[in-house]
Amino acid sequence: MTNILVTGGAGYIGSHACKALKAAGYTPVTYDNLVTGWQDAVKFGPFEKGDLNDRARLDEVFAKYRPAAVMHFAALSQVGEAMSEPGRYWANNTGGSLNLVEAAVAAGCLDFVFSSTCATYGEHDNVVLDENTPQLPLNAYGASKRAVEDILKDFGAAHGLRSVVFRYFNVAGADPEAEVGEFHRPETHLVPLVLDAVAGKRDALTIFGTDYDTPDGTCIRDYVHVCDLVDAHVLGLKWLESGKGSQVFNLGTGSGFSVREVMDKAEAVTGQKVPCNTGPRRAGDCTKLVSGSIRAVTDLGWEPRRSTLETMIADAWKWHKTGHYEA
Ligand code: UDP
Repeated sequence: MTNILVTGGAGYIGSHACKALKAAGYTPVTYDNLVTGWQDAVKFGPFEKGDLNDRARLDEVFAKYRPAAVMHFAALSQVGEAMSEPGRYWANNTGGSLNLVEAAVAAGCLDFVFSSTCATYGEHDNVVLDENTPQLPLNAYGASKRAVEDILKDFGAAHGLRSVVFRYFNVAGADPEAEVGEFHRPETHLVPLVLDAVAGKRDALTIFGTDYDTPDGTCIRDYVHVCDLVDAHVLGLKWLESGKGSQVFNLGTGSGFSVREVMDKAEAVTGQKVPCNTGPRRAGDCTKLVSGSIRAVTDLGWEPRRSTLETMIADAWKWHKTGHYEA
């Protein structure tokens, strides 16, 4: 079996990727420092505890497993935190990634799949965000990820590293079999917070800003199901295996939903009210982030199957009700 090194394999997206990799016949080797990940989410292959900034540990793991490729998910990913603690984002997301890329190249592992983000685009009024849109991030999270994209380009030119970069829009939902799901502490993402509010685990959801230039005044995002997202990663791996070279793909559906629309859909799915109040804008938030690209569909053969808002919320709700969420 072919080993794939999955950094952040104990996290939300990484754990779903491990399940998809195993189903596709690979052995996912999770490398995670467990700062934001959960060891009990590592169910589909071996686990190696380690930090991206620990080069000796990375070298040891590359030597032990000789992975054919790296899937790099491990990152800090909260916009609010990135605004108040940018140093952690640069050190972990950019510095850690540089260390990982150097270790991969030194080990001769030259296929690299990277989790980037639509936050690298920043604010573009009425512009469809495709892969050629200028990257002008509004926060240190987006900036720290954009820098890694530059590192991958430079290492491609200098050392023959081949990379598939995925710029994610808003990832939501959970494994429909509820083996893994979304679980952050603290939780900052909209869908799990809405479900928490429905379940009475918090008093109410605070809507961050109702004065945006959108039809209902709340921010608009493009939500993509985590299972569809990780399917694209397996296709990205196969793209690299077949020698197609480095490429960048947006992963979004092209449909935008406001915070209020997400809440309405959650009420329809759960049959319960979402207790909420309104608050000020959150620093670093863009008004609207919606993908305008179908490159992943046309070039990669990606077929999103579960990315309707209803299915994403229903799958997240199913996971929520398993009680894993309380762990
Ligand atoms: N949001 C909100 N209240 C919350 C959390 C999020 O209104 O408690 C909004 C946030 O301002 C953004 C959208 O929901 O417009 C999605 O936020 P999330 O943190 O899930 O993802 P992001 O867009 O930051 O990657």
